[in-house]
Amino acid sequence: MAAPSWEYAPAPESAALANLEPAYRPFVDGEFVDGGGEPLKTLNPATEEVLAEVGTANQEDLDRAVTAARRAYEQVWGPMPGAERAKYLFRIARVVAERARELAVLETLDNGKPIRESRDVDVPTASAHLFHHAGWADKLGYAGLGPDPRPVGVVGAVIPWNFPLLMAVWKIAPALACGNTIVLKPAETTPLTALVLAGIAADAGLPPGVLNVLPGAGDVGAALVGHDGLDKVAFTGSTDVGKEIQRRLAGTGRRLTLELGGKAANIVYDDAPLDQAVDGVVDGIFFNQGHVCCAGSRLLVQESIEPEFMELLRARIETLRVGDPLDKNTDVGAINSRPQLDRIVDLAAAGDAEGAQRWTSSCPLPERGLFFPPTVFSGVEQTMRVAREEIFGPVLSVLTFRTPDEAIAKANNTPYGLSAGIWTEKGSKALWTAQRVRAGVVWTNTFNRFDPTAPFGGYRESGFGREGGRVGLAAYLTA
Ligand code: NDP
Repeated sequence: MAAPSWEYAPAPESAALANLEPAYRPFVDGEFVDGGGEPLKTLNPATEEVLAEVGTANQEDLDRAVTAARRAYEQVWGPMPGAERAKYLFRIARVVAERARELAVLETLDNGKPIRESRDVDVPTASAHLFHHAGWADKLGYAGLGPDPRPVGVVGAVIPWNFPLLMAVWKIAPALACGNTIVLKPAETTPLTALVLAGIAADAGLPPGVLNVLPGAGDVGAALVGHDGLDKVAFTGSTDVGKEIQRRLAGTGRRLTLELGGKAANIVYDDAPLDQAVDGVVDGIFFNQGHVCCAGSRLLVQESIEPEFMELLRARIETLRVGDPLDKNTDVGAINSRPQLDRIVDLAAAGDAEGAQRWTSSCPLPERGLFFPPTVFSGVEQTMRVAREEIFGPVLSVLTFRTPDEAIAKANNTPYGLSAGIWTEKGSKALWTAQRVRAGVVWTNTFNRFDPTAPFGGYRESGFGREGGRVGLAAYLTA
């Protein structure tokens, strides 16, 4: 495809909209406190400049937060009628929607994702998730989970850096709607929006102790999930840490849900609408720089259309703009942290070493900041690391298949089982495939669609438990 004969003029959002504070603090028992841990500095990955200093929690702060959450659970939030709890959640949902622009800019600064995504996906989906669960709070007896389901108690939640606000809300909204209280640890590199959300909850009058937010590194997460005062742990992050948590909680009687990694197959049959499939494959792997647990990181394309499809795909990828995440024209933003960039570089090098053919978009990269160009490996064999390991970056691995059975066998040849995509014009083939692919979420002729009414979660090394929808409530209730 010829290069466009014109360039988009830059259209940056103003960083000032984020109302960035020089310092942020942990939120414990209804107020922001000076954490006893070593403060951390959170960076803008697009510039590597410090955005703010963030106080972190030590063991004492953690104990206080868990005690406050227990008190709030027993005395206020647990006994409160669902219709009353709903009012708080509706209020928080409304303020998140009202402050959407500020939250989107703050998320983009702290995470590096394009403003188009934080504005159009992260923040609206977070608000929708809060509205959805607010609606459930007084209807739990009609959710098919018993006539009078009860909350579990105090929840400890640990979340990753790829969707900081959205993952916070995925834990907080169902936990609170069901009458639980929560202590949440955001990721070390992206603590800001969760702390602003805590401020929004405080402004909404949420009783002290119902929500506590403790920034810090992995040691704070480890101390939280191991805390005796919890009734349930909800974790989203890497499979390795998830396994460690599962080992730790075994035999404690505490409940656990894990939402872990993935290596999703995006299957394109020869009868697929190709232009639509190309866009879906691009969205599947380059959305959020590929920092998505359900990313369509393995393209399985039917051999007969591979040459044509790859040509269309490369031409489409060439049009992606990599750059300033605050620019509304940017498609692919910054990699969240230097260690993550190093991991992507290493895994891509493993692809070269194992004999896959690397193709890289010719788009220019910014001179500073953490960036990696959209990359495609073709000629990938199932044994290669780029086919097996979660790269969590803008890197697509392409494999081919001849028959539907072979597509299924290859799609399922992974220890993960989080998501899959199917592209075909035949409904019967889509259903046949969906029934055989071992993945918690299967999209047909689309990819990366998130809706609060639809349960999300995995099988095998992608974890267990569901988030969202009626089924997602079960993780936060006991019959
Ligand atoms: P982690 O699993 O280490 O981090 C997720 C969260 O857990 C963070 O808040 C982290 O804190 C915290 N944490 C770290 N160690 C522990 C522990 N022992 N006990 C409790 N909590 C802990 O993921 P990474 O950020 O290190 O990413 C590594 C890889 O994991 C990525 O390359 C990607 O492949 C995968 N990943 C998958 C995600 C998914 O959604 N499936 C999300 C993120 C990563 P801290 O931020 O301080 O490290």
